[in-house]
Order: sequence, then C-alpha cells, then structure tokens
Amino acid sequence: DALLETRDITVSYGDAQALAGVSLTIHPRETVAVMGPSGSGKSTLLHCLSGIVTPTRGEVLLEDQPLSALSDAKRSRTRLREFGFVFQDHQLLPELPARENVALPQLLNGTPRGQALRAADSALEGLGIGHLRTRRPGDMSGGQAQRVAIARAMAGEPRVVFADEPTGALDQATGHEVMQLLTATTARTGSALVLVTHDPGVARWCSRLVEIRDGLIHRDTLIEQPLGVD
Ligand code: ADP
Ligand code: ADP
Repeated sequence: DALLETRDITVSYGDAQALAGVSLTIHPRETVAVMGPSGSGKSTLLHCLSGIVTPTRGEVLLEDQPLSALSDAKRSRTRLREFGFVFQDHQLLPELPARENVALPQLLNGTPRGQALRAADSALEGLGIGHLRTRRPGDMSGGQAQRVAIARAMAGEPRVVFADEPTGALDQATGHEVMQLLTATTARTGSALVLVTHDPGVARWCSRLVEIRDGLIHRDTLIEQPLGVD
C-alpha cells in the first residue's frame, strides 16, 4: 500500500551527488521524520518526493504513477491538490490576511473563491485560530504565523504534508505546540507527514525515523510510542 515511493533515485549537481540511490516507500497516514547532517541530502529528498526536483536517475511514484510521466502543468496541479507544504519561516504573503493566505493554494488550483475561503475558514477554526482570520502575518507572533501556515497546508486535505524544519524558527514550547497541531491535524485528515528536522525532540512526534548520510539512507526505524498518540 505505497502512497509515495522513490525508486533508486540519484540527484547529481555536476560532479556532486546530493542523493546517491535512495529507495523509500511512504505509506498512507505514516508520519516520517528525516534527519541527518547538514548537506546530507535531506532537502533534496523532500524536493524529489514533492515533485519540485526531478531526479537525475530513478523514479518517484505517487500511488504507482511516475511523476515524470506528467507534464509540467499537470505536475504543478498534482502538487497543489495532493500535497501541503510547511516551511521553516512560514512564507505567508505579508499583504494578505490569514484566510486569503490559507485559500491561496486552492485559488491557484482553480477552486472557486467562495469555496476556497470557506475551506480556509474551516481550517483556521480547526486549528483554533479562527479569530486570526482577517489578521496579516506582520501582526502575528511567529507561532501564530506558523499555525496559519499549517492551516494553509491542510485546507485542501492533502494526501501528504511536507515540512522542512517546521519548528526551526520557534522556541521549544512553541515548536512543541506546532508539532502537536501538525500531527493531530494530519491524523484527522488521514494525510501522511514527511518532515525534515535537526531536532530529535521533533522526530519523537513521528512514527518513523529515516536517517540520511552522504545521500543514502543510513537507517530507517519505527518509533515506538510517538508523542501525541494515545
Ligand atoms: P541537507 O538538506 O541535508 O542540508 P541538501 O539536500 O540541501 O542537504 O544538499 C545536499 C548536497 O547537495 C549538498 O552538498 C548541497 O550543497 C548540494 N546541493 C543541493 N542543492 C543544490 C543545487 N541546487 N545546486 C548545487 N548543489 C546543490
Ligand atoms: P537546508 O539547511 O534547509 O538544507 P541549504 O542551505 O542546504 O538549506 O540549502 C538552501 C537551498 O539552497 C536549497 O534549496 C538547496 O537546494 C540550495 N543549495 C544548497 N546547496 C547549494 C549549492 N551548492 N549550489 C546551489 N544551490 C544550493
């Protein structure tokens, strides 16, 4: 029951190899933490899984469909529809109120405005930040902005949420709250979660730990009793 899969992918930049042959299968509802030293290939792996980077060799498959078989336009639409993204710095548009930021991926994908805004409001409510609906990112705390970014990632009920160091810019307590929200909301929608982190405390919220070294999977282990799971 593979949801997303890489088959022996290699990514080369000139003579340098960011990934040196990675085969990884993500299952539905799985929460995966990717860890490893700086420069080991974590971001590149995330970018390949999410269709932003095309591997030099090998295949990435979403439900057995190779992403490389899609046209660029179709791949962009698939990305917007099936994937949600959370970044280290929230990457919200400063001039737009929260609900417009949250609605943006769906608006870009052609969802009618009323429907996209309703989904945005409901995602904000679900994360307990309905009251921030009309506020702009500049008037929020870092933790509030990251919650809005999670709402943006979740509003379309994506198949997979990708998060690159989602707690990297937050203090420990706020990072803890953000992980709690991220794992609770993906569990609720049935989305898989793939996140990159340097923080073993963040990885403890996930059900699986994939360790990368020098562009290869060094270790792949299940985490017993992840935090946040009853
Ligand atoms: P990590 O996320 O683990 O820090 P990256 O995936 O960002 O690692 O990078 C892996 C290796 O690939 C590093 O040596 C990095 O410098 C190199 N790399 C990544 N992206 C590019 C790029 N666009 N051009 C050239 N080299 C890159
Ligand atoms: P992180 O610590 O999140 O992995 P990096 O500083 O490694 O971030 O990389 C930031 C961005 O720069 C990434 O998108 C990566 O692909 C790109 N990058 C990394 N190394 C290089 C490089 N040597 N040349 C060009 N782009 C690079």
